[in-house]
Amino acid sequence: METEKKGLFHRLASGLSKTRKSIASGFDSLFSLYSEIDSDFYDELEETLIMDDIGVKATSQIMDDLKKKVSAQKITDPSECRKLLIESIRTQMQVGETAYEFENRTSVVLIIGVNGVGKTTSVGKLAGKLKDSGKTVILAAADTYRAAAGEQLAEWARRADVPMIGGQEGADPAAIVYDAVASAKAHHADVLICDTAGRLHNKKNLMQELHKISTVIEREYPEAYRETLVVLDGTTGQNALEQARQFKETVPDITGIILTKLDGTAKGGIAVAIQSEMGIPVKYIGVGESIDDLQKFDPDAFVRALFLTEEEGESC
Ligand code: GDP
Repeated sequence: METEKKGLFHRLASGLSKTRKSIASGFDSLFSLYSEIDSDFYDELEETLIMDDIGVKATSQIMDDLKKKVSAQKITDPSECRKLLIESIRTQMQVGETAYEFENRTSVVLIIGVNGVGKTTSVGKLAGKLKDSGKTVILAAADTYRAAAGEQLAEWARRADVPMIGGQEGADPAAIVYDAVASAKAHHADVLICDTAGRLHNKKNLMQELHKISTVIEREYPEAYRETLVVLDGTTGQNALEQARQFKETVPDITGIILTKLDGTAKGGIAVAIQSEMGIPVKYIGVGESIDDLQKFDPDAFVRALFLTEEEGESC
């Protein structure tokens, strides 16, 4: 178990190495430049956090928290702020005990997001993960606008070794979900994961389609626990935050976020911004392209991977 944990942390830490390098260089120069905690130090620290995509709102909460602690604990050495910062960000990122309730219930997971963010890949990885933990999983290929989307999902279904219900290009996505629900019920599946089309440029259509899918699920499978996850591409930084905002307007009942491609970016701090600004928990992160590269979001490990060297992170 301990080895498995270390392996997971190593994967996370190497996935986030670009972000860590960026944050570490900002912090190192800040901590070497200042020998006392004054308003210039605070200003620069604030700027560093914002530059690292942590976002204005989260940064201001983190700074308030830090200032309170510095004064309460009578800290004078700037380098001691590093630990306090880590604690403060960790607190901001807690996802709550019920975040993964769907994994333990008979559930339907709707996956939404614009094209190219890593939606289909995440569906495949999530299916693999759940299957590995002993769950029976069925996939619904409800993105029928691109033939390639169905084929790609079929490939992931093979990889994860789970069945997939799909249809022809242009078929009604709600009809596919209807068939998939029937199959999930007939096979007593634990989790039905529905990949949907992501055409944010046409909000009205998107809303109508997701509404239709939702109605089918509510009518045909009222006993199922519902989870709606929006997939966002971490490499797009502030744009990911903007997409989250737009999706929340269209689909108010989003229950969580899958933040992908954190391995290819220095913008991993966006996870903190999204969670704090949107109030929607980041539940999974993608740190690579293989089936094992989707991790449950662990705020503690995430913050350690961002701020500490791998050795420091493993030992605390
Ligand atoms: P969709 O259009 O939203 O369904 O996006 P896809 O699932 O087709 O993914 C688009 C591209 O992003 C593919 O080349 C994936 O391999 C890649 N991708 C998805 N998630 C990750 C990730 O966490 N890390 C990396 N490096 N690439 C990813």
